Amino acid sequence: PPLIELAGVEKSYRTGKLEYRALRGVDLSITRGEMVAVVGPSGSGKSTILNMITGIDRPTAGTVTFDGTRLDQLSEEELAVWRGANVGIVFQFFQLLPTLSALENAALPLDFLRRGSKHERFERARHNLEVVGLADKVENLPTELSGGEQQRVAIARSLAADPGLIVGDEPTGNLDTVTAAEMFRLLERLNDEGKTILFVTHDRELAARARRVVEIRDGRVVGD
Ligand code: ADP
Ligand code: ADP
Repeated sequence: PPLIELAGVEKSYRTGKLEYRALRGVDLSITRGEMVAVVGPSGSGKSTILNMITGIDRPTAGTVTFDGTRLDQLSEEELAVWRGANVGIVFQFFQLLPTLSALENAALPLDFLRRGSKHERFERARHNLEVVGLADKVENLPTELSGGEQQRVAIARSLAADPGLIVGDEPTGNLDTVTAAEMFRLLERLNDEGKTILFVTHDRELAARARRVVEIRDGRVVGD
């Protein structure tokens, strides 16, 4: 069975009297262990699809199923707990907390889930910072790190609860070409280790290297 299944997903946004149909019937099935790039023009609905899959937003119509769980039927509270345990999210602008060290940032999801003792959370975060190659920067604040290093912290943070799925919304969009390629290799390595990876990108070259490319246009899947 697929890990993620979107069936007939529609999403409309209402602004005043206008209704905008961001997703117009999306069917998408992703198997455990896949690495999928989502591409398409600005405004085509890529982020909206990620928001459906991470349960950050709900479909107007259709169903979203993750590993047998109907996300569109969960309450906000249930979704928050589900997301914390099952999905790691990486953003274009990293979204690290500026007053916390790399180690503290990487431990945040475990603090949220109240998983393990303080000591265990930090040990886990330290391990994940080693995995992303930042063992020597655990005490640094985000402002003391380069963009690529900040994204590594964000990836370590996404690994905190050992989720099966890592989702990236333009994870390399704010990085230079060389650093972006490094970040892509890191995602590939995590994929090799069994993580399902789904990311939105504008970078044609990186997309072409993903094992599967889903193309979105005007709220529909036009290529897969
Ligand atoms: P992409 O990620 O491909 O650039 P998005 O999924 O962010 O596109 O947006 C798809 C369309 O939905 C855009 O036209 C955008 O303006 C609209 N949209 C997205 N979020 C909202 C919102 N919260 N309210 C109103 N319109 C939105
Ligand atoms: P890049 O060359 O990738 O753009 P930077 O030139 O920003 O990276 O940083 C190079 C190195 O210096 C990085 O390893 C970073 O951790 C360190 N560094 C950058 N700014 C500071 C700072 N304000 N305090 C301590 N270390 C810093």
